[in-house]
Amino acid sequence: MLTRPRFNLDSPVTALNGVRDSDARRLAKLGIRTVRDLLLARPHEWDHFEPSPIAWLRAGQQAMVVGVVGNVQARQTSRQRLKLTEATLTDKSGAVSLVWFHQPYLAATLKRVHRLAVAGEVRSSRYGGLQMFNPRFEEVGADGAIRIGGLTPRYHLVEGLSSARVQQWVAEALALVDDFEETLPEDVRLRHGLLPIAEAVKLSHAPPALPDFRKAVQRFEFADVFELQAAFLWLRRRQSGEAATPIPYRQEVIDRFKGGLGFELTNAQRRATWEIFQDLEKEIPMNRLLNGDVGSGKTAVAAAAAAMAHAAGLQTVVMAPTEILARQHLHKFRAYLETSFPDLTVELLVSGQPAAERRRVLTAAASGHCAVLVGTHALIEEAVQLARLGLAVVDEQHRFGTRQRELLRAKAGDARPHFLAMTATPIPRSLALVLYGDLALSVIAELPPGRRPVTTEVVTPPERDRAYALVRREVQSGRQAFVICPLVEESEKLEVKAATAEFERLQKVVFPDLRLALVHGRLKEKDEVMAAFRNHDADVLVATPVIEVGVDVPNATVMLIEGAERFGLAQLHQFRGRVGRSDHQSYCLLLTDSEEQTVHRLDLMSQTNDGFRLAEADLRMRGAGELLGTRQHGDVDAAMAALQQPALIDAARAEAEMVLAEDPELARHPALRAAVERRLEQTSVS
Ligand code: ADP
Ligand code: MG
Repeated sequence: MLTRPRFNLDSPVTALNGVRDSDARRLAKLGIRTVRDLLLARPHEWDHFEPSPIAWLRAGQQAMVVGVVGNVQARQTSRQRLKLTEATLTDKSGAVSLVWFHQPYLAATLKRVHRLAVAGEVRSSRYGGLQMFNPRFEEVGADGAIRIGGLTPRYHLVEGLSSARVQQWVAEALALVDDFEETLPEDVRLRHGLLPIAEAVKLSHAPPALPDFRKAVQRFEFADVFELQAAFLWLRRRQSGEAATPIPYRQEVIDRFKGGLGFELTNAQRRATWEIFQDLEKEIPMNRLLNGDVGSGKTAVAAAAAAMAHAAGLQTVVMAPTEILARQHLHKFRAYLETSFPDLTVELLVSGQPAAERRRVLTAAASGHCAVLVGTHALIEEAVQLARLGLAVVDEQHRFGTRQRELLRAKAGDARPHFLAMTATPIPRSLALVLYGDLALSVIAELPPGRRPVTTEVVTPPERDRAYALVRREVQSGRQAFVICPLVEESEKLEVKAATAEFERLQKVVFPDLRLALVHGRLKEKDEVMAAFRNHDADVLVATPVIEVGVDVPNATVMLIEGAERFGLAQLHQFRGRVGRSDHQSYCLLLTDSEEQTVHRLDLMSQTNDGFRLAEADLRMRGAGELLGTRQHGDVDAAMAALQQPALIDAARAEAEMVLAEDPELARHPALRAAVERRLEQTSVS
């Protein structure tokens, strides 16, 4: 009897053989949590292996060789105590050594084998000669047939995963391939000549030849864009049936607001404000994304909207992804609003607050006394009630999932609040259309006047001292500096460790006479340290990449980034936006010890200050994953596909519109509806 696997498509990946919890965490970084996710994550490239003589091997190459195996031994490295298996493979032309890690039983197997085929990457060995590292392998039987040659997939990976292991997991999961339900309506699928879902999944992982893989990809690209567009249309339809309380435009409010700002709004800020006011006057909820470079002054625009809401007797909530950012918003909203609107109070709600303070804030919110409530995720907790919520603002909106945004909006009771999302990730318009099709877009592509462009330089190892000298010089003339430690993808713990070590080294060896401070994600006193730095109680702030988002310290003029090559351009640009906020000249130093190609990429940073241009370059060079942070691969793939084939968005959108026009609740398309809901439910990890 055929037994059904003990997992289904929605089981966590750990249900598969050989997927440990640590693997599951790694997969989660790729947006893969369930067996379904795994099967939908297709390889991005294929290697084609043809057997070659061992003498032809070159380091850096992907190759396959066949030979006689000998010298098999298992041992443990002395320093790191890693278990490894070694062997030699010999053919008529020469010999190559083979090394496998973490496969303790392998030696016993290999000792029984005579002829072996192996495929994988060739490296130069530390002891001279060539080595194949963790190659795939297969015993060559009497018939001489070899299966591991041919097409071999390369999957998107993070440290600790290998394509061979992913392939193994996928092979087990493929037993469920027929459980996939078709998300494309039959006529749509046929009209566009696309494969059925089960066949596409199968061919995306195990194609007999490359054209089969391409055919599968074609189906998924269409389906990804189609499902996303269907999701937006569905969401829009649901929202357009909802009533919001209109917020009438009042000239005296905006006059008063401008009077209390202390600066003139830029043209771009004025235009965005105007677009928002027009939406607020309507009886359907505003749904707008405010996209502006770091430092472009999005907060003032949001504050103007909050002032207008307040004048209409409505409250505003402002949600930020971190406590540091929430506190900063608190200060800014107070500075922008509290003097010109004496009856307008701004309060803070974060999770670590003393109980009495929390109660006071909750009461103020529930009674309607507090006009603007700023906070973190703590805002969406059930205990938080607002008497008359009219406007919900979400900063760095890509850090929140749709569900979290929905929970925030639900705080308005029966009416729906107007909704304003803000992001400093410059999203090219085409991409915004694919990914945020449910939002109207306002762009602030202009910085406030008086800002000098930040001087940006790529610094290679021999020039390191010059970079430190610049930090010292700036500190001596009264300025401050940030030092960003390298990104450590494997774990936050390691990242903290590395940052702590770097902090100690800088303090002891490089800047013994300066005042250094350290901030990282696990530090309880983050806010105190940030506040101290803002008060100029420290000269140099050493930080893990956590400070990426939003900190405002105008006196800081140097941003030194270690391991710059590990970051995307869009992210480096965010870091750079932390300096250049005063009329002093500022500097961004990108420290890197990698090769020419990366330096070339980083050089773009010194050539332009335009975040949108950098984001587009990032997209071209590193794909959308980088730019979108925690979004699911399905969305990222859709985004890339759509960028490369603009006609695809129009076609998929038109089909989605037709389907939803006939079946608004998707009652007759349950699989599509489930896919739409899955896409809307993605929550972020931050
Ligand atoms: P972001 O868009 O990155 O959130 P902020 O709203 O934090 O930018 O603004 C960055 C800084 O610029 C703040 O100190 C803010 O007070 C200041 N600022 C904003 N708009 C203007 C303006 N029109 N003129 C001068 N300074 C401004
Ligand atoms: Mg901001």
